[in-house]
Amino acid sequence: MTRMRVVLPAVIALGSNLGDRESILRSAVREIDAIEGATVTAASGLVESHAVKPDGVDEAAPAYLNAIVLVASALDPDGLLDELNRIEADHGRTRTERWGDRTLDLDLISFDGLRDDRERLTLPHPRAWQRPFVLVPWLQADPDAVLLGRGRVDALDAARSDEVRPFPAAPLFEGAGR
Ligand code: ATP
Ligand code: CA
Ligand code: CA
Ligand code: CA
Repeated sequence: MTRMRVVLPAVIALGSNLGDRESILRSAVREIDAIEGATVTAASGLVESHAVKPDGVDEAAPAYLNAIVLVASALDPDGLLDELNRIEADHGRTRTERWGDRTLDLDLISFDGLRDDRERLTLPHPRAWQRPFVLVPWLQADPDAVLLGRGRVDALDAARSDEVRPFPAAPLFEGAGR
């Protein structure tokens, strides 16, 4: 018997501003690819930007490295988020204050054409459209990216922000067939 599996495209944002940020993001990409039922299909480069706190940009806080990976997921969105939460926990992620410093943050930015509006999982991610550290690397991974309800990512103001800088590093992901 052949088991047919629906595989859908999802976009995951990675961020870190504590510890060895680059190596944490590198392991996270490998661990996302290792999820049973998910495969990384593309990745952005790394970008760096100042931390944003509830009161605004915080230049005194450790800076962030961010990246985007595209995945093909046979898991449903909640199943994928469970796996992302497990990977965050494996990297010692703690949650105290809102937007506090963290070793690893993994957000589900979009999942195929799905919309959802629950506290545990809102799709697309409700703040992605205004975040340069999400949109700039997303366009690197997919120049034709579209954010459900907001249109083409390259047309959003935040995608043109100079608040994020490229962070020179070897590619995060070598592509299929490696
Ligand atoms: P932000 O959501 O503004 O980026 P954050 O990443 O710092 O902030 P977290 O503490 O990591 O916030 O997550 C708070 C809650 O958001 C989690 O309990 C999670 O279940 C929920 N959540 C809702 N929608 C999403 C989503 N699209 N991706 C990841 N988590 C989500
Ligand atoms: Ca896998
Ligand atoms: Ca986040
Ligand atoms: Ca998060």
